Amino acid sequence: MKNIIIAMINKNRGLIIGRMQPVHNGHIEIIKETLNEVDELIIGIGSAQLSHELKDPFTAGERVLMMRNALIDEGIDLKKVYIIPSEDINRNMLWVSQVEMVCPKFKKVYSGNPLVQVLFQEAGYEVIAPKLFDRKQLSGTEIRKRILNDEDWKSLVPNAVVEVIEDIDGVNRIKTLNKKELSEI
Ligand code: NAD
Repeated sequence: MKNIIIAMINKNRGLIIGRMQPVHNGHIEIIKETLNEVDELIIGIGSAQLSHELKDPFTAGERVLMMRNALIDEGIDLKKVYIIPSEDINRNMLWVSQVEMVCPKFKKVYSGNPLVQVLFQEAGYEVIAPKLFDRKQLSGTEIRKRILNDEDWKSLVPNAVVEVIEDIDGVNRIKTLNKKELSEI
């Protein structure tokens, strides 16, 4: 029994963490690839405390729903995945501990973000920089810009994300936030 518990704790678990504002096709591709390399994957929803800002329009709960529904549509076994919101902390040196506190133990970190890479490397983790898919289009910045300008954004995100954004009237949220932020200039 004790051996089974130790095996569960020490699984080959990976971590991907991102703001996912919103979840897009690049995130899903990298998650699918990473799941071939690990037993289980933790998907950290970063900056969980932020929402209703132009750069961070969606709540952690909305991003969890986007991710979960997109993974279900992709046929990904949710038993292999943990979706965990993680708040920022105003001290980079302490952030890795903050992430460790809310996640099951993990061994590898997959990130294209240089700050995330260096912080986990310094904390002794194996860090892998996965290749980026069509980064020019598949980025949260580009998708939020297209939403604001009534350009095609739906082709860059999974259908499940379109559904969540429509359900919460997310396009109007972003447009209203833009008006408010412009009026504050
Ligand atoms: P992101 O959503 O831009 O990207 C998340 C990951 O998805 C990236 O590392 C990348 O590997 C992958 N990805 C993105 N676009 C892709 C594409 N086109 N193709 C393939 N893969 C792609 O999020 P991010 O900015 O990297 O998020 C880091 C999070 O960590 C933020 O929430 C940040 O606040 C948090 N953080 C906090 C602290 C602190 O609190 N002190 C410190 C460091 C990082």
